[in-house]
Amino acid sequence: MIQDINPHRLYNQYDPEKRPSDDSRIFAFRDSSQSKRDIELLVKIRDEGKTLDIPKRSDFAEDLSEASFIYLFSVDDESFFLLDKKESAVAEKTEENADYSFISFTELRNAGLQPKEYVYAAFTAYQLAEWYSVTRYCGKCGAENENDKKERARTCPKCGNKIYPRINPAVIIGITDKETDSIVLTKYRVGYGHNALVAGFTEIGETLEECVAREVMEEVGLTVTNIRYYKSQPWGIASDILVGFYCDVVGDKTIKMDKGELKYAEWVKRPDIILQPLEYSLTNEMMQTFKNNGYSGTL
Ligand SMILES: [Zn+2]
Repeated sequence: MIQDINPHRLYNQYDPEKRPSDDSRIFAFRDSSQSKRDIELLVKIRDEGKTLDIPKRSDFAEDLSEASFIYLFSVDDESFFLLDKKESAVAEKTEENADYSFISFTELRNAGLQPKEYVYAAFTAYQLAEWYSVTRYCGKCGAENENDKKERARTCPKCGNKIYPRINPAVIIGITDKETDSIVLTKYRVGYGHNALVAGFTEIGETLEECVAREVMEEVGLTVTNIRYYKSQPWGIASDILVGFYCDVVGDKTIKMDKGELKYAEWVKRPDIILQPLEYSLTNEMMQTFKNNGYSGTL
């Protein structure tokens, strides 16, 4: 999965005092001119499209003030900062001078680049960049928010309102049938085009298990039992925390697909499961685990 970067490690401890050195890596995002659903990131892709390089502080020719950088996290002993969106003109100049380019985040996500810890760092930076960009002002009184001094939060100096990073809980569901050794695979109507599992966001006032049962009923019209936790995954590009569950179908096994959401939903036998092209997602790992191991009460 995207977060499996062992032996490397992402350290997310908040440190507002931290300042970039010449070697610190800088994430500079800008809005995409092509699509409202996309965003662009300043990077260099080397080795015939295989290696991702993220600009260093020293690549930015202009003399930027320290306030232009927000410390995000470290991977091992390498620090990553976010360039304030207000400095996008400087980022564009760096694009010209230092041979970097703004590329679409969707393109980056689908390119299978190395090193993986940089791709994971980019996913995580994207989540924080999105959050900083939508929390400029206080939603309660309209004053300009400030970065909190003690924790990763945006604080309103006028009314004290505090906003924490947005993390949306969502479930990924492997619906299995022991009798036929099958799992329900889906394809979404919009966006990602490869095989997926039933998935959905948790609603206010429901448990994750209730969310699983509701999403399965809504998307494919099945009743499930024996709902059991598998693993979780932070999915920064959608600000999600994904929680994976397997469950067993009971009663009528006929799929009644929600055509508004899905364009495909079928029972697929274990050997016929076609995985996603990249091993980033929890969904893919869950399809693979079932493909390899089959039904197991402990899965
Ligand atoms: Zn306020």
